[in-house]
Amino acid sequence: MQKKTLLDVARPHYEENQVLELDHAIDFATKAHAGQKRMSGEPFVSHPISVANTLVEWGMDIDSVLAGVLHDTVEDTDATLEEIESLFGHDVAFLVDGVTKVSQARSGMQDLANYLPQTKDNLSKLLIAVGQDVRVIIIKLADRLHNLSTLQHLPKEKQVKIARESLEVFGPMADRLGMGRVRIQIEELAYGYLDPTEYKKLQGVVRKRLGRSTRKLGIVRAEVEAVLQKQNIEADINGRVKSIYSLHRKLKKVGGNIDDIYDLMALRILVKTQEDCYRVLGVIHSLYQPMVSRIKDYIAVPKPNGYQSLHTTVITLNEQIVEFQIRTYEMHEYAERGLAASFHYHEQKDSKDYRLKRGTSTLPAHLQWITQLQAVALQLRDNEDVSTDQLNIDLFGNRIFVYSPKGDIYNLPEGALPLDFAYLVHSDIAKHAYSFRVNGNIHPFDKPLHNGDVVEVVTRKLSSPKQAWKDLVTTTHARNKLRGQLKQLGIIESITSAANIIRQKTLRKK
Ligand code: MN
Repeated sequence: MQKKTLLDVARPHYEENQVLELDHAIDFATKAHAGQKRMSGEPFVSHPISVANTLVEWGMDIDSVLAGVLHDTVEDTDATLEEIESLFGHDVAFLVDGVTKVSQARSGMQDLANYLPQTKDNLSKLLIAVGQDVRVIIIKLADRLHNLSTLQHLPKEKQVKIARESLEVFGPMADRLGMGRVRIQIEELAYGYLDPTEYKKLQGVVRKRLGRSTRKLGIVRAEVEAVLQKQNIEADINGRVKSIYSLHRKLKKVGGNIDDIYDLMALRILVKTQEDCYRVLGVIHSLYQPMVSRIKDYIAVPKPNGYQSLHTTVITLNEQIVEFQIRTYEMHEYAERGLAASFHYHEQKDSKDYRLKRGTSTLPAHLQWITQLQAVALQLRDNEDVSTDQLNIDLFGNRIFVYSPKGDIYNLPEGALPLDFAYLVHSDIAKHAYSFRVNGNIHPFDKPLHNGDVVEVVTRKLSSPKQAWKDLVTTTHARNKLRGQLKQLGIIESITSAANIIRQKTLRKK
């Protein structure tokens, strides 16, 4: 990609002085990378320029775009962070530094099993970078996407290695940030390199099936459209085809039978308001027979990454099984762009808003885990003990949502116990936890919570943390708070016992 193209793409979205800065950054990177070439034979600078272009397309703020242009200069050239800071400011330098750290961490992550201490160290660098500014990861995703799209120039062995890492680390990362479109792009590219035979086979299967069902689906679509019009519900209906990689994953789950996959092709209905979503669902269920176990309300209970939509699978009049996904335009925008949407150049706030402050986060509730991640990162930086297991859970594990009786939403890892919830709400509440009620029923301390549970902590003033609780918490956050409280109790205990000894001594003297 050329400098001029990037400037043309960027111009409509940024202020004049920002475009000028971009111009300078490109010149700086071009000079720094002079003489370096990509495996494709292109000058190296075409890579950071492409990355920056992707960031513009994702609607990122100007600092991210500048960091995209400069992201490989510190690692691969003589340029220094100090130079970048003095030329482009502290924020841009901070982002470039983060990206560099993530690259260094990445190289250690593959050998997870063999070199635990080293991996832990590298992972911590990754986490610290993530914790301080999520834009670092977004830039890294753009970087990875471009490397994947130019993978054909690398030797076979490297292709497989990068592809596997993309599926194991970067795909889930995009998913965790709600960036659905990017996740699919990464997965489709990577899977094609990892298992080309299976990829082509599945591609063929999908093509054949689609050919057969497109016409029938067209009829269903027309039927729905007609009824919606009659009911005065404005809607856009599109077909969406399942991606090859998620088909592969689902096939593995259902034992390889493609007839068990109902959402190979789905109809997506976009409407203006949330009420319209439920109205459309009503219309569809009155038209066709729904499969009861496949009605999902991700609007009332969003997926942990923030995804919202209604899903339902129905049997149509011509006996086709069709999945519908119903959501507002806004929900759709989020499903596609995720966290990147909140950095949009059209709603640029002070760039400091993007940096996560310790303890307080401006992120929406479903992204609370990023704040929790930051806590882990700080702990690692202070050389405190965190098991690699925990890191994996915190980073890539599945999350659930639970609610307080007041309806406040809390995000926990799957398998979390009631005390984890209590510590998340407030450590003082957890401290006096006496029992738990979940959805109105008494709930034992050792029974995991589930998505959508309403959890009430019953407190007693005289209740206090016990050693046994160590086995009744699973999150890093809860474990740390508990450890602190036990320590404090220990000190108080030893003070009391010291006081006792002194008192006894004085008593004896008397
Ligand atoms: Mn790069």
